[in-house]
Order: sequence, then C-alpha cells, then structure tokens
Amino acid sequence: MNVKEKKNSEAAEKSISIFERAAQMGHEQIIFCHDEPTGLKAIIGIHNTVLGPALGGTRFWNYATEEEAAIDVLRLSRGMTYKSAVSGLNLGGGKAVIIGDPLQLKNEAFLRRFGKFVNSLAGKYITAEDMNMKTRDMEYIAMETKHVTGLPMELGGSGDPSPITAFGVFMGMKAAAKKAFGSDSLTGKKIAVEGVGQVGMYLVEHLAKENASIYVSDINNDRLKQVANKHGATVIEANKLYDLDVDIYAPCAMGATINDASLKRLKVAVIAGAANNQLENENIHGQILVDKGITYAPDFVINAGGVINISSELSGSYNKEVALNWTEKIYDTTQAIFAKAEAENIHTQKAAMHLAEERIEQVGRVKLSL
Ligand code: NAD
Repeated sequence: MNVKEKKNSEAAEKSISIFERAAQMGHEQIIFCHDEPTGLKAIIGIHNTVLGPALGGTRFWNYATEEEAAIDVLRLSRGMTYKSAVSGLNLGGGKAVIIGDPLQLKNEAFLRRFGKFVNSLAGKYITAEDMNMKTRDMEYIAMETKHVTGLPMELGGSGDPSPITAFGVFMGMKAAAKKAFGSDSLTGKKIAVEGVGQVGMYLVEHLAKENASIYVSDINNDRLKQVANKHGATVIEANKLYDLDVDIYAPCAMGATINDASLKRLKVAVIAGAANNQLENENIHGQILVDKGITYAPDFVINAGGVINISSELSGSYNKEVALNWTEKIYDTTQAIFAKAEAENIHTQKAAMHLAEERIEQVGRVKLSL
C-alpha cells in the first residue's frame, strides 16, 4: 500500500458508521450511557457472549472526539473476547469507556450512576478496572451493582491485577525465547522494557531475578529511575529504545507501537509485552514481523493474567494460587500458537485469533445441544 492508498483507506475507515463498524467487528450490543446531572458520558461495548458474560474493564479517558471513544470501546471489547477465549475462560468480551477528564468528573455520584448503567445490563456485562480507574472507584460502582470485579482484597476481591499480568507476560516471553533461541532461559538476554508502570515494574522484577540485562524507558522520569535503581536496569531515553541492539522488546506502555516506523528500527528477535493492541495494523504488521524473522507473542495471549485473576474472583472465593497456576499455562498456550502459526503458515496474531474463534465456535455448538 503506498502513502496515498494508506491515507484513503484511513479516511474510509474513519467515515464508516458505528453499525457498519460493529458489523465488521462482530459486536452484539453497544450501549450509550448519559446522565446530565453528573456529566456522565459512557459507552459499553459487548462484543461476544457465547462463552459467558462479557467481562472487561472501564477506561476513563479524555478522548478528543466521541468517535474516537466509540472506536476504542469496539476494539477493546473485541480484544477481550479473544483474550478470554484463548485463555480457556468461560467469559465473553466487553469493555466500557467513560469520556472526559477523570480529575474533574470523578466523584461518588458519578461512579454510582455508572454502576447503575452496568446493573441495568443484569450481568451481561461485568466491569473491572482499566486506565484511570482504581479499586476505590470499583467500590463505589459496587454500591449499585454486583456485576463488578477487581475489588480490594479486604472486600473479598482480587485486588490489583498487575503482578499476575506481569507474571503471565514473563511466561509468554519465556515461551517466545524458547522458540527464537532454543532455550527459555532469559539469563544474559538483553531485554528492552518500554514503560515501567504497574505491569512493566513487576516484569522487570522477574527479569532481574533471572539475571537478564535490562534496559528501561518511561516518560515518567522519577518512576524510571526508581525501577532502574532497584533492579540494576539501564535507563534509555524513550525515543531511543527502538534503536537498541537487544534480543527482546517488551512493549508495556501504549498500544500500536509495532508499526511501519518502529519496525524499520527494531533489531530484536522477540517481541513480548503487556500493552494491548500492540500491532498498529494486525494484518500488515503481523506479516512484516514474520518477514523480518521476529517471534511475536500476541499481546492478548500473554497479557491475560489480569483477566484470569479477575475470573477467579467471580467464583465467589478468590484464590491467588488458582489464578497463578492458570496464568502459568500462558507458556503452553503461547507455544501452541507458535506451532499453529507454523503449521498453517500464518502470522502468530492470526493463529491466536483463529484458536480463540475455534473455541468460541466449538463451545458455542456444545452449548446449543440439549
Ligand atoms: P501504567 O499506566 O501503570 O503504566 C504505563 C507506563 O508507561 C507509565 O509508567 C507511563 O509513564 C509509561 N509510558 C507512557 N507512554 C510511554 C512512552 N511513550 N514511552 C515509555 N513509557 C511510556 O499501565 P499498566 O497497568 O502497567 O499497563 C501497561 C500496559 O499493559 C497498558 O497498555 C495496559 O492496557 C496493558 N495491560 C495492563 C494490564 C494490567 O493488569 N494492568 C492487563 C492487561 C494489559
């Protein structure tokens, strides 16, 4: 695709209606929530409920436009369907976005009003934390609905999912190392971690324990220095990370960092990280990774520790050991995806999506039987 074609296709992509978009992506339901007195504007996206209720966090973000928020909720909710399906969970995919500045809007009434909207869906959608939503916010939502997870441990919840997400990413990275280097040991491997927030920080801890050579970048300098000092990592300027001569790149900040520009600079053998929607364009960049000989561990497969943790909370009695054991299986799932990609001569993102789709179809058929 040349530049002009790319621009045209992006323009066409932007101009399609919400129903056309939902039809293309396969969504079941989209709910627009509005409350004048609190200023609440939210969209709940329910992508697929074949395997179970649609579970996914609520993202509070100051979107530039309502369309941007709608596209985000559609992409994120679809991602949750794939993530839960490939992880063997009996959950569907959903997500919510709240539009506006969290610092100005967030208060008890606002969050409880959102909780009422979630409650009106009678359990078809179960919410949790996402960007700019904390366990304290979940407590307010929980005052209006029982369809909420990620509550603090003191209230019987599973608490912060980040440590378990990081453990899953670590498992997926080891499986990818095994594929690329013939051994899953990360000792001595040079690993660049982009973003040392909640997940990146715990990932660095695992990597340090395994004596990897760690390089870290973050736009938050205080945090960056703190994590680097604690684990003996080398600090790298954020815009220089892609030029490093390292073995593994772990995107743990924003999505879409695997794109035309970064792929021209990256010299790694493996990409495995926590960020959601890492490929700017699933089909185009998934294939470029294959062509460049980079082993890519699909994001929604290896960052599923958080949703696995939350699903354990749904059973009514949260058990960390159960969640950790389930998350450890990410190693095997990642290996199964590499094998499928190779056998079917497709890129790993596509293989992971197919694995999820096959499970939804097969279990869906079982559910229909008497
Ligand atoms: P976070 O907000 O705690 O951390 C993100 C970090 O990235 C921050 O420290 C931020 O300063 C940094 N950052 C932002 N832009 C950057 C840039 N251009 N270069 C370098 N650093 C940059 O978020 P988190 O909870 O650690 O999540 C990280 C990623 O993993 C997100 O994409 C999130 O959606 C995804 N994820 C998180 C979980 C979870 O359990 N928290 C689960 C699944 C997926």
